[in-house]
Amino acid sequence: MTATVTAQPDTRLNPLLQIENLSVRFASKRGEVTALDNVDLTVPKGEFLSIAGPSGCGKSTLLKVVAGLTIATSGSARLRDTVVKNPRRDIGYVFQRAALLEWRNVRGNILLQAEMRGMDKAKASRRADELIEMTGLTGFENAMPHELSGGMQQRVSLCRALLHEPDVLLMDEPFGALDALTRERMNIELHRIWRETQTTVILVTHSVAEAVFLANRVVVMSPRPGRILETIDVPLGNDRDYGATMEHPEFVRIAAKVRDLLGATHASD
Ligand code: ADP
Ligand code: MG
Repeated sequence: MTATVTAQPDTRLNPLLQIENLSVRFASKRGEVTALDNVDLTVPKGEFLSIAGPSGCGKSTLLKVVAGLTIATSGSARLRDTVVKNPRRDIGYVFQRAALLEWRNVRGNILLQAEMRGMDKAKASRRADELIEMTGLTGFENAMPHELSGGMQQRVSLCRALLHEPDVLLMDEPFGALDALTRERMNIELHRIWRETQTTVILVTHSVAEAVFLANRVVVMSPRPGRILETIDVPLGNDRDYGATMEHPEFVRIAAKVRDLLGATHASD
């Protein structure tokens, strides 16, 4: 008998994040809006999970619940063994806009994280040096945000989000404002940084190629009220070359599947 070998992380082992029966409803002038409806999701430590779905299906809301910035109406998100109820300090967040302080240089923006958290100065400084090197910002430590390209600003934002070595890195359409070539480069870098840091990452993206290239699993959501339509494994190993991956039959198959699922939802987007 042949044993079945799978390269995927077993989601039952070492769950870092467990979302159970999560629903979020907001009160609005036109009545109640259900942003998320009965979402169940388990993310093992070290996984890279991509989330794709039409606008308004609750992707940002899902990340905010994990971060403790939005409260669940019912159900729960559990990080390690505690139910998330308040803003969490053990997460990192990267948004579409880098949101850097214009009057602080690159290093000053990265170290803002340490100041807000009261981290040990020497330790934070060493970690900042490592991240600056890892993200290719060496030589730009003293540059001001307006002197940087969009891609470099997002690198600074990534360094700031990783400075305190968070358990989970949440990324909400982080490369949506970048041109196609820069975005591709950032995808390659993010893949390498994920491997080097072994951080658990949840990435929300509208790009199918980005979602599949980076992820161990891709979650596709339905239009509002957001539900998980399907969770698709990406069994391409964790050492991915961009060009070779794009042409890999398995990549092509999975990307087409994600596109189909999203296409089916767009009629109502
Ligand atoms: P996505 O990120 O997938 O585009 P969101 O999570 O931002 O979607 O929003 C999901 C739905 O919830 C949308 O209809 C949005 O208008 C609504 N929504 C999000 N945040 C709030 C809020 N704080 N108050 C009221 N409605 C909200
Ligand atoms: Mg959003």
